[in-house]
Amino acid sequence: MRRKLAAGNWKMNGTGAALSELEALAKGHPAPAVDILICPPATLLNRAAQALSGASIAVGGQDCHADASGAHTGDISAGMLKDAGATAVILGHSERREDHGERNEDVRAKARAAMDAGLTAVICVGESLAQREAANTLDIIGGQLSGSIPDQSTGENLVVAYEPIWAIGTGKVPTLEQIGEVHDFIRARLERRFGAGVGRSVRLLYGGSVKPDNAAGIFGVPNVDGALVGGASLKAADFAPIIAAL
Ligand code: 13P
Repeated sequence: MRRKLAAGNWKMNGTGAALSELEALAKGHPAPAVDILICPPATLLNRAAQALSGASIAVGGQDCHADASGAHTGDISAGMLKDAGATAVILGHSERREDHGERNEDVRAKARAAMDAGLTAVICVGESLAQREAANTLDIIGGQLSGSIPDQSTGENLVVAYEPIWAIGTGKVPTLEQIGEVHDFIRARLERRFGAGVGRSVRLLYGGSVKPDNAAGIFGVPNVDGALVGGASLKAADFAPIIAAL
């Protein structure tokens, strides 16, 4: 069945000094029973991969360009992430959708590039508070799924993270029923589009204010296969108990 996945998104946090957190994490998890992925800023990717070599903790990027190379100042290709030691990349995070105007079709093109480069695409979806209050959550998520996920997705090269925008960095978490409703919906959509085999093998993560004290409850919800953790992934002392709850 699906292996559980604890993923950390460091966002724009961390310099070389933060690598000690990875070393502490690796020391505490010599043979983890779940998959662990850390997505540090691109500047730390290669050093993080080196610090974790020999450990069972993977590293990933937070974004990539849709092209393999070329005149795109400041951008990073999927192949470059892979070369730096990444095995996965977060795509379509709401902060990228908001700060950089990324649309579903942009996310889809990036995911295609990531998969072509041999990376797992961790594609993020999620509604705003206004969309939830207007009872549009499932419509929004459905549109993001069909628009952002490329056709060549297999169970292995795709992870979907449900991150309600209003829960990110706010300390507000949906009810377990709300999380379950969206995760069941995502599972059904994936099965309808890709067939039961592929659809059931894609891992679904919940993200948004996951902390050591709420992780176990969230992980008990059917179709929640792990978490995409922001703030609480920065310190090994916070992330370790979340991993342990999986
Ligand atoms: P927080 O865990 O800090 O709420 O962030 C969630 C997130 O955006 C992970 O990608």
